[in-house]
Amino acid sequence: MARIHKTVDETYHPDPADPVPWVVRDARGFAVVGPPCERCGACECAPCPCHGAPIHERGCVGLSLAYVRLDHWTALCDACAAREGIVIVACECPAESPWDPSSATIRAEG
Ligand SMILES: [Zn+2]
Ligand SMILES: [Zn+2]
Ligand SMILES: [Zn+2]
Ligand SMILES: [Zn+2]
Repeated sequence: MARIHKTVDETYHPDPADPVPWVVRDARGFAVVGPPCERCGACECAPCPCHGAPIHERGCVGLSLAYVRLDHWTALCDACAAREGIVIVACECPAESPWDPSSATIRAEG
């Protein structure tokens, strides 16, 4: 069970009370690669026309929208995150939040 705060300006940070920090990594619309789902392997690679599953010989594009665990840097897709009990809640942190919004935004690095 983890909660991710979503702020009014569409940034995400972990709930300060949660022992495991999760955030949402939203790279939709950007030409970046991300990790595939840790649980089910979901990714956004185009399926191979002959057998219908993605080919990963040249690597995986991963997920552009994923739930990312900050301490292990593993990602979960929407469905697996829901199964883990990870929910997004509206941020109601005080202004002096320990989570600087600029540092909570995950940048994609290869
Ligand atoms: Zn998954
Ligand atoms: Zn094939
Ligand atoms: Zn893939
Ligand atoms: Zn918050």
